[in-house]
Amino acid sequence: MYRPDSPYKIYESKIWWSDKWDPMEYGRDYDFSKPFFEQMKELIREVPWPSRIVIDVVNSDYCKNSMNVKNSYLITSGKDIENCAYGYRLYDSKDSYDCMSLNKSELCYQDFMLDSCYKALFSSHCENCQEIYFCHNCKDCQNCFGCTNLRYKKYHIFNKPYSKEEYLKKLEEFDLGSYKNIRLLENKAKEHHLKYPRKFMFGRHNINVIGEYINNSKNVLDCYSIKSGEDLRYCQFLDTKEESKDIYDQTGFGVNAQKSYECFGVGQGSSNIKFGWHNMGCYNLEYCIQCNDCSDCFACFGLKHKKHCIFNKQYTKEEYKELVPKIKKHMNEMPYVDKKGRVYKYGEFFPAELSPFGYNETMANEYFPLSEKQAIDQGFNWYDKPKAEYKPTIKAVNIPDDIKDIDNKILKEVIKCDNKDCHGTGVFRLIPREFKFYKKQGIPIPRLCPKCRHQERIKQRNPMKLWGRQCMKKGCPNKFQTSYSPDRKEIVYCEQCYNKEVG
Ligand SMILES: [Zn+2]
Ligand SMILES: [Zn+2]
Repeated sequence: MYRPDSPYKIYESKIWWSDKWDPMEYGRDYDFSKPFFEQMKELIREVPWPSRIVIDVVNSDYCKNSMNVKNSYLITSGKDIENCAYGYRLYDSKDSYDCMSLNKSELCYQDFMLDSCYKALFSSHCENCQEIYFCHNCKDCQNCFGCTNLRYKKYHIFNKPYSKEEYLKKLEEFDLGSYKNIRLLENKAKEHHLKYPRKFMFGRHNINVIGEYINNSKNVLDCYSIKSGEDLRYCQFLDTKEESKDIYDQTGFGVNAQKSYECFGVGQGSSNIKFGWHNMGCYNLEYCIQCNDCSDCFACFGLKHKKHCIFNKQYTKEEYKELVPKIKKHMNEMPYVDKKGRVYKYGEFFPAELSPFGYNETMANEYFPLSEKQAIDQGFNWYDKPKAEYKPTIKAVNIPDDIKDIDNKILKEVIKCDNKDCHGTGVFRLIPREFKFYKKQGIPIPRLCPKCRHQERIKQRNPMKLWGRQCMKKGCPNKFQTSYSPDRKEIVYCEQCYNKEVG
């Protein structure tokens, strides 16, 4: 995950997790002549970081932030998945490509936010569906094409019923192996979906929630992408099936996390973590990074199975209890001041300038895009990847339009990405498993590189921002907080009106 010229020390993740090195060797006394974060900066530059955050991954060298992953490629945030590629936030899923936010699904392609689906292609926000194409907001449907807001339906095309024979005949006429046709149908489906109302938020089985993409949750306010949450505020991406409870201001992970405050990527049964950054199975930590199965530690980095440590140095319980309040006091008396003049005392998360990443390397830039100047003005790091020189062997326009006219030779080609402002290296290749999938599903090969495909996909995602609006159903006075801005084309309904019309 770290660029080659990163000043941080990187260990291959298997080595990092092994006992071939000892993070306690980097232990040091707290220095009362320097600000706390200055010393933290030194510590994180000296102690090694794991090359990737992965646990139990098999044959998945290019996956990160993942757990229990098998035979997968270019996945970020996968859990319990197998044979997947080019995905982001995939859980309990198999044999799927180019998907984002997939749960308990199989044989899926180019999807966003699906739950318990089988053979769903180019679809979004569907649940319990099989063999669907270009569907949006459908539930318990089978063999549907271009539909939206359907419940318990079969053989529908653009929300109209067909007989099984007619349906299959129509599907053949659509000729889904053609790249041109896929693009046309995609646009047609998008326009069709806009004619139908949608609920003010994506979420089900909730009690007292405000936010977007929230499911099975209770008392979850101002949050985004949460599953099984209770008593949360200002949290994002705590969306695995295991619950997250009593958390304020956390991004990522969860998985039976409790009582954390201002954390990033903390979970796996962790409890009472403040200002934590990638901690698993820990409790009573403050300002710890990359610590696992530790308790009662303060400002440590990379520890495993430790207790009563400060700056990677071992103390007795009594010494620990005496020193921690002194450090907190010192943090307030001699606060850290960042290069923008902002003051960081006890109670603040790590300053952004301690991040090993440039703002543009992180997903923050996907939600809140900034130019280089804006990012630097706000005190963030920035990193421009040196342009790699790859010679393409084929241009996207020269690839045969239909999958049936493409054979195995395509695997040897270096394909030029069809986006002239490519977000990646400008070229890409197909992996054999992926090509087999396209052939089997009878769908065209992509013309964009994986990075550009991801950029296209995230356009479907509603923003991490809320607007106060009124239900658009005539005569309904209901008001709500929604991530649909008032200038958008969608027809936005309150829950009651949506349920009455759609169910
Ligand atoms: Zn590209
Ligand atoms: Zn209404």
